Amino acid sequence: MSDTRNVIIIGSGPSGYTAAVYAARASLAPLVFEGSVTAGGALMNTTEVENFPGFRDGIMGPALMDEMRAQAERFGAELVADDIVEVDLTGEVKTVKTATDTYTARSIVLATGSGYRKLGLPREEELSGRGVSWCATCDGFFFREQHIAVVGGGDSAIEEATFLTRFGSKVSLIVRRDELRASKIMQERAFADPKLDIVWNSVIEEINGEDRLESLTLKDTVTGETRNLDATGLFIAIGHDPRSELLTGQIDLDDNGYVLVEHPSTATNQPGVFAAGDLVDHHYRQAITAAGTGCAAALDAERYLAELD
Ligand code: FAD
Repeated sequence: MSDTRNVIIIGSGPSGYTAAVYAARASLAPLVFEGSVTAGGALMNTTEVENFPGFRDGIMGPALMDEMRAQAERFGAELVADDIVEVDLTGEVKTVKTATDTYTARSIVLATGSGYRKLGLPREEELSGRGVSWCATCDGFFFREQHIAVVGGGDSAIEEATFLTRFGSKVSLIVRRDELRASKIMQERAFADPKLDIVWNSVIEEINGEDRLESLTLKDTVTGETRNLDATGLFIAIGHDPRSELLTGQIDLDDNGYVLVEHPSTATNQPGVFAAGDLVDHHYRQAITAAGTGCAAALDAERYLAELD
């Protein structure tokens, strides 16, 4: 086991790297676990990011994350491309484990993000950022005057679909059953929207396109018939899950597994443990808000450590 650190950061998206920049500049020598496969977080799966302030011409998602990573390293953050598989967050000294090693720290920043649920279809990953998206706020603007499909039947699917009618020439909401799960008020909003067409009893069977999304193959869940939908944008709105499996029984989570913090701070119910980004926030889910709470978590950790000393 190595020496006890001031702060260990688990996660390498905008929240984790921003926490690392702040903690490193505060001379806390943070140790950051980036994850073994997905270092850089959710933006590694996208192309152009146009809404992160400071880049007037936009920036590619992976390039933005490279910059954040390099900025954290420049100030002395130590980055480890490994997964944390077990944690003990109780007690004054916290323990985190990879498959091979054990590390300890006096404070922890949890920044493991959340994952959008996927359809699990071939081409879904390859065409992510090339017509297939999980975030209307992020990508709706790219689909002006195009035919956009949205899949899902809950409140967030309707919210995404009605928002996208601002951009698309037409929006088709693909719904598995002959009714929506969404609340009544959201349903009324959907029915009243002249640009929104609801495609009932349908599932997406294939996502088609070489370099970009070209069309979808839909299957009728009642008749079994298939047909082509000529959409060049697909927004998948079937939910998202926080990456909090490690934390169950260690800190307070809400009913959906998101970490509960004492707003406006990032403090969890466990002293010395702070949480930031999409692991906490199921409302805004943006890179800039994740970076903002990452900053707050590092400042909270710094103050906590100062009080201990
Ligand atoms: P994440 O970015 O999800 O990063 C968390 C990372 O932590 C994981 O990826 C992994 O590397 C690491 N990790 C997880 N578990 C462990 C573990 N056990 N051990 C070690 N490491 C671990 N937002 C915008 O503002 N603008 C956009 O244009 C935009 N486009 C998007 C496009 C796509 C396709 C997607 C999926 C999202 C997009 N978003 C966009 C949303 C944005 O990416 C997220 O809000 C943001 O990345 C959340 O940051 P985070 O740091 O909380 O988590």
